[in-house]
Amino acid sequence: MYAFQLTGPNAGQYREVARPKPREDELLIRVHRVGLCGTDVEMLRGTMPYFRLGWATYPVILGHEWSGTVVETGRAVDNFRVGDRVTGDVSIGCGRCVECLRGFYNLCVVKQEVGLCRGKDGAFAQCLTMPARHCYKLPDNVSLDDGAFTEPAATVVKAIRKVGFQPGATVLVAGDGPIGLLAAQAAAAYGAGWVVVSGTSPRKLQLAASLGAHAVVNVGQDDLDTFIKDQTGGLGVDYAVEASGHNAALAQCLQATRPGGTISVVGIYERPIEKLDMGMAVVRDLTICCSVASPNAFEQTLRLMATGKLQTKPLVTHVLDLADAAQAFELQQTQPEQRIKIHLRPPEKE
Ligand SMILES: [Zn+2]
Ligand SMILES: [Zn+2]
Repeated sequence: MYAFQLTGPNAGQYREVARPKPREDELLIRVHRVGLCGTDVEMLRGTMPYFRLGWATYPVILGHEWSGTVVETGRAVDNFRVGDRVTGDVSIGCGRCVECLRGFYNLCVVKQEVGLCRGKDGAFAQCLTMPARHCYKLPDNVSLDDGAFTEPAATVVKAIRKVGFQPGATVLVAGDGPIGLLAAQAAAAYGAGWVVVSGTSPRKLQLAASLGAHAVVNVGQDDLDTFIKDQTGGLGVDYAVEASGHNAALAQCLQATRPGGTISVVGIYERPIEKLDMGMAVVRDLTICCSVASPNAFEQTLRLMATGKLQTKPLVTHVLDLADAAQAFELQQTQPEQRIKIHLRPPEKE
């Protein structure tokens, strides 16, 4: 089969590789679509912390945001059939340790991550194998095209569920990238009464408004804190979701959240944050709640996608052939204004 394989830092090649064989508890899946994630860029550059931890090694086939069709099932699999349309978790737990038994397979100390760590190849390929227990059937009205958005959407759903939104809450979503645009929708689905999205791209902020945000603020032009205080009777928002990964945006969240409020952090920061006024967070009794990955969130996420509460199609700005993966990485790194989510399409025939 063909795959886009990384053999070292900044060395990726579209080439023929051996097709993986499913073990008895696994599915063999033909990949329909796979999304390009910021994490994949870190993997390409070799700057992903997993390399320093010794969790990631080359060669590796990336790709953890995928959809596909089952083409073979292992002997012990009885809940999936050939032809099922599926997607799957990024974290694969051992299934036996204390964390896995508690359901926190993203915390399993020997976990694999699809296309990222401990030798688990991902979906930048015509086929991938997955343990059946980490796969989910797509509802009838979620297309294979949309199904490739389940993993990033589930990351957001899990983060929002973790902070426990109160119905009618006021919410700031900092960030107008794919995670921010999903977070604004998920906040509304979880009962938020007023959602404001902040960012720097007029085009993406306009999209946020069309997807249901009640207000948008371009932080390059307007003062976010003044706007939020004006709209909330001087108090600030009940919840902020930091979805941009920018240090300044986290500082804005601290400022814009009302005393006693909660900040959900899903952005990933390239460098340690130095100038953060934590004293202000303490004296205002804020709760800061971090979240990573998407355990136990796929079923809910797929239901929100099936009922139209989470719309993902408008976030896909580019669909390229997998053979053009190098070009997709180029686009991802050089054209932040033009792209939101880039999807890749492996060839159907082997
Ligand atoms: Zn990702
Ligand atoms: Zn485990």
